[in-house]
Amino acid sequence: MKSQEIRSKFLSFFENKKHAIVPSAPMVLKDDPTLMFVNAGMVPFKEFFLGNAEPKNQRVTDTQKCLRVSGKHNDLEEVGYDTYHHTLFEMLGNWSFGDYFKEEAIAWAWELLTEVYGIDKDILYVTVFEGDDEDGLPMDSEAYDFWKKHISEDRILKGNKKDNFWEMGDQGPCGPCSEIHVDIRSAEEKAKIDGKDLVNMDHPQVVEIWNLVFIQFNRKANGSLESLPNKHIDTGMGFERLCMVLQGVQSNYDTDVFTPIIREVETITNKDYGKDEKVDIAIRVISDHVRAVAFSIADGQLPSNSGAGYVIRRILRRAVRYGFTFLDKKEPFIYRLVDVLSEKMGKAFPELKSQKQLIENVIKEEEQSFLRTLEQGLILLNRIVEETKDDIVSGEKAFELYDTYGFPIDLTSLILSEKGYTLDENGFKKELQKQKDRSRAASEMSTDDWTILIDDSDQEFIGYDTLEANVKIARYRKV
Ligand code: ATP
Ligand code: MG
Ligand code: MG
Ligand code: MG
Repeated sequence: MKSQEIRSKFLSFFENKKHAIVPSAPMVLKDDPTLMFVNAGMVPFKEFFLGNAEPKNQRVTDTQKCLRVSGKHNDLEEVGYDTYHHTLFEMLGNWSFGDYFKEEAIAWAWELLTEVYGIDKDILYVTVFEGDDEDGLPMDSEAYDFWKKHISEDRILKGNKKDNFWEMGDQGPCGPCSEIHVDIRSAEEKAKIDGKDLVNMDHPQVVEIWNLVFIQFNRKANGSLESLPNKHIDTGMGFERLCMVLQGVQSNYDTDVFTPIIREVETITNKDYGKDEKVDIAIRVISDHVRAVAFSIADGQLPSNSGAGYVIRRILRRAVRYGFTFLDKKEPFIYRLVDVLSEKMGKAFPELKSQKQLIENVIKEEEQSFLRTLEQGLILLNRIVEETKDDIVSGEKAFELYDTYGFPIDLTSLILSEKGYTLDENGFKKELQKQKDRSRAASEMSTDDWTILIDDSDQEFIGYDTLEANVKIARYRKV
């Protein structure tokens, strides 16, 4: 089944269950002081759950563009290294605002997966909330009993608060959730494992695809829970992962969501995907990141030196760096992938078509200017090497290169090792830590879903790129 069809089957399935199909909200949030990007399907509906607004429809379904590169959900460092975390991805969802609840949500999820999509029941697992003493909550036996009607009990696993209780933040709507996982290991592989060891949700090929959240409590300011008069359903399924399962492949990058982009990277760079792990990682990084950057620009968020724009710039530079280092691309080429991307996804997301020219121009310019930075950094690095007496380059020197010129540390390390030098990595880490401490003192953040961002107005931009998880913390200092 082609990805287009997979997406439309999801939407029409819920349309038939009386859901209104709504378009994806823009990915970049402009008026939310707590969050830069939509990172889950529920974000655009937050006000309904909080009771601050009334929905027009009590049942809604959509595919939402999500970006997980900052705050609580930051998957950036995984991207390229595993095959199922992306920066930008689509989250398919169905919603009940005070309408149906657990029984229907569970029954319909099951019907869609096993009957409409035809997934073999024997490769599915589900989880339910095991309960929590601190909150005085018992196991979610309602969910357990509804699941029992569909799936054998040895495939219903209990999960803790971390995985199976969803909260919006310190306060507000929350509730237990059930996740659906798919075992995509081959039959031969499974035949080698016996009995109960087969149930192994930590295996990299047992992949979470869908999260059904049952919003039934409100967390009060004093930390206690009260039952909500109106109960809600919030579900999110990773579209690219679903495509992987339905297309019978082992990686999201082997689905038709990604293969046209990967083929194009291969053609442009004259490298093959699937032969060398480093090259493969670079190709995955680039194929992923071009989507995030293109969708962002299409939403009107251009790369820049602060806020959301800086996050986008950093994603693009990560892609350029992998191309430069592992695919030997010293001139702009990522912009050339926009054509196939907009061809492939322009039907579901018309903004990619209408903004194509802008997206290409912006990416090309960004690539050009960062490649110049990289070249300058190379010259400086050569000078550092000439001045180095023994064969160890100090952490301070590498940090200066990184901090002042935006020269990525992994590139420094790679080039040094090619020249027969080693980098004092501990020294570098110490310098980085010192800078982090300085920045932390100057900023404030929360680690919840709703990250409080530091105000840009009194921040001075001090560098180009960083390996740090939280961009804003690492790269700005108060002036
Ligand atoms: P994981 O444990 O794999 O990181 P999650 O529990 O963080 O996933 P949820 O917040 O439950 O994910 O989001 C709902 C669904 O969105 C997941 O079940 C998964 O299919 C998909 N998803 C989550 N993060 C990503 C990502 N970075 N890239 C692609 N799909 C994702
Ligand atoms: Mg995650
Ligand atoms: Mg998870
Ligand atoms: Mg989850």
